Amino acid sequence: MNEKIAHFLDNRQPATPCLVVDLDIIRRNYLALAENLPQADIYFAVKANPAPQILSLLVDLGAHFDAASYREIEACLAAGATPERLSYGNTIKKQADIAKAADRGVDLFSFDSEAELMKLAEAAPGSRVICRILMESGDAQWPLSRKFGCTREMAKDLLIRANGIGLHAYGVSFHVGSQQINPRQWITAIEKTAALFADVATAGITLETINLGGGFPTYYRDDIPDLSRYGDVISEAIAREFGHTTPRIIIEPGRGICGDAGVLQSEVVLISRKGYGDDERWVYLDIGKFGGLPETAEERIQYAIETPRDGGKAGRVIIAGPTCEELDILYKKAAYELPMNLQIGDKVAFLSAGAYTSTYASIGFNGFPPLDEYYI
Ligand SMILES: *Cc1c(COP(=O)(O)O)cnc(C)c1O
Repeated sequence: MNEKIAHFLDNRQPATPCLVVDLDIIRRNYLALAENLPQADIYFAVKANPAPQILSLLVDLGAHFDAASYREIEACLAAGATPERLSYGNTIKKQADIAKAADRGVDLFSFDSEAELMKLAEAAPGSRVICRILMESGDAQWPLSRKFGCTREMAKDLLIRANGIGLHAYGVSFHVGSQQINPRQWITAIEKTAALFADVATAGITLETINLGGGFPTYYRDDIPDLSRYGDVISEAIAREFGHTTPRIIIEPGRGICGDAGVLQSEVVLISRKGYGDDERWVYLDIGKFGGLPETAEERIQYAIETPRDGGKAGRVIIAGPTCEELDILYKKAAYELPMNLQIGDKVAFLSAGAYTSTYASIGFNGFPPLDEYYI
């Protein structure tokens, strides 16, 4: 665990469960992305962690923001972001929310369907629109390949249509899947985007922007490629596909900015076995899927776990949350081991829990309060 967070937890002994985020790491991650992808404008995917302290820090660093809802747009504006720095990137928006965003000065929106394009034409005339295309999420630990995007064929028609109905066809976006551990996934996506740029150019429209989405990974239990690999692969693909007329490049990192900045501190509520001869212990914690760890679904995101008794003999465990819900088992197949002398009442820390945790915590399911948060 990072020293600053360890020190905070030691001194403050906050009630668990709680999330502690080190803002210095957020800054470091932002600067590392800026350094490794110097040609890109960074739009922080606010949904990963919308804490006002993170938003203000990123405003100061000159970031842009990708918002999923009108509430997130308000949060960014409240943190000091100007509307030109905002993108309303969710492809599923109520028309009233589009109108409210446009009213606040936001003029960059995403869509992936004709009906959404029509809403934009009505509620945000004149604004820049980006069409999201379908993309494979192979090698992503948290795939995003089905719910969003449309085919290249449909994207071509819709982008051409956009210009005809008073919008500004601005570019193409995709997402190669979150926690994408294979930088080469961006290559196919960039090739497909270049082909779409050419399709649309046949109608005399020059698109200006590629939004490369998020997907930049954070460190959990397994090694991840260096950020410079992502920078190199992406720059090479863009140079190859677009040559000298490089479009504006946008990236939308969420996890890659705040993932490894946070530690989630939890407490052991119960340790038990289901039968006398069982060698696996069940370890029940005061946090589970509903308290802020939904990304343990299907055991996809596997957090590194630390306890104060690490170093001695360890044995297999099944780790579960505290609610009366069978779904609330965190890890059964993932072969986690915890110290044999782990005790009820011990603190257990989930590392790299800064993204997709705090705002995913349910409010009051089984009577458990939302997660306490500290930004230091
Ligand atoms: C969630 C999301 C992101 C952030 O993805 P990460 O994998 O966390 O970087 C970026 N863009 C869009 C449109 C998203 O929905």
